[in-house]
Amino acid sequence: MNIHEYQAKELLAKFGVPIPAGHAAFTVDEAVAAAGKLPGPLWVVKSQIHAGGRGKGKFKELPADAKGGVRLAFSMDEVRAHAKDMLGNTLVTIQTGEHGKQVNRLYITDGADIEKEFYLALLVDRGSGRIALVASTEGGMDIETVAHDTPERIHTFIIDPAAGIQAHHGRSVAFALGLSGDLYKQCISVVEQLYNAFVATDASQIEINPLATTKDGKLLVLDAKVGFDSNALYRHPDLVALRDLTEEDPAEVEASKYDLAFIKLDGNIGCLVNGAGLAMATMDIIKLNGAEPANFLDVGGGADKEKVTNAFKLILKDPAVKGILVNIFGGIMRCDIIAEGIIAAAKEVNLSVPLVVRLEGTNVELGKKILADSGLPIISGDNLGDAAAKIVAEVKKAA
Ligand code: ADP
Ligand code: MG
Repeated sequence: MNIHEYQAKELLAKFGVPIPAGHAAFTVDEAVAAAGKLPGPLWVVKSQIHAGGRGKGKFKELPADAKGGVRLAFSMDEVRAHAKDMLGNTLVTIQTGEHGKQVNRLYITDGADIEKEFYLALLVDRGSGRIALVASTEGGMDIETVAHDTPERIHTFIIDPAAGIQAHHGRSVAFALGLSGDLYKQCISVVEQLYNAFVATDASQIEINPLATTKDGKLLVLDAKVGFDSNALYRHPDLVALRDLTEEDPAEVEASKYDLAFIKLDGNIGCLVNGAGLAMATMDIIKLNGAEPANFLDVGGGADKEKVTNAFKLILKDPAVKGILVNIFGGIMRCDIIAEGIIAAAKEVNLSVPLVVRLEGTNVELGKKILADSGLPIISGDNLGDAAAKIVAEVKKAA
């Protein structure tokens, strides 16, 4: 789960991280009032969307030479003009895709007198299975480009979870960034504060780009992208409250309500599977048969009739779906119970596309008999290969 920049900054500030003062705003008047609470003479008006690259982004509704989604303002009139330009309009950045994202919230913050911009991130490094610090002198820009063109400018430090964060980690980062004197000390604190925030919130990433030094010798966090491990959110109701559903795919939001693991894909064969590994294998075998899956969907081990029905509804909401492949292994759950669930669901949703079902496991014969006796046009698959070939053929036939 991701949150907005202003939410991330409010959260990090609680851990002592140095953040310029700022306020969120949902209307033009609120933006001006927010600026009025800050000292000036420089304000920054920042579009709040769950995507980076806002500064260099373009608004669809504005002329091509208009400024981007992060703008400096030197007066209240400029704050007002920028807020008007941004609110309700669609910002397209390198991270949003061509559709862009509508800006519904702004963050009005103190302008910093920047000396230099750096990059600093904490993330879970899969290779070592530990939290890693990633630092670069090339801040403010697209880090993927830096990683590609000048990988030697990216420094990674792995943190041993048993020992936790140590001053030497901060010193290594400060050294890699070329900081000295008081900035060196400030960097050691910031690294420790960010690590504490990461662990306390079960974060999956904290990306600061830029971390900036100012002309008056301060180290400041000017942008923050924070994401959390969804599996740990049950421990953080305060963080769940920060979720902005308008930033997420509607089908995936719907799926999360029913505790279904669902990812929308671009193909036309809907998949309803139990177990993530089996779901992956099902997608692979659809591709092997020359078609594309419309989704990844894992209904989980203990799927009941209600869950199967909700999963069917979710798949059928996608107009691209031209056929459904159900692939269920009845281990804990018996195949006859699953068959009854499939029939109930197919009746309830008025199934209008071909449906191939492959069942395996406990009471499989009974399950198949229930499906065959249902009177519904359900095609039975004998094994995974057979089932995939059948659904691909059905979809081709209908096209
Ligand atoms: P994004 O990464 O989405 O483009 P940032 O918050 O990083 O958005 O802003 C883009 C650039 O705007 C930064 O690299 C920095 O140069 C400038 N900037 C951002 N916040 C401030 C601020 N508070 N004061 C001065 N400049 C800022
Ligand atoms: Mg940034």
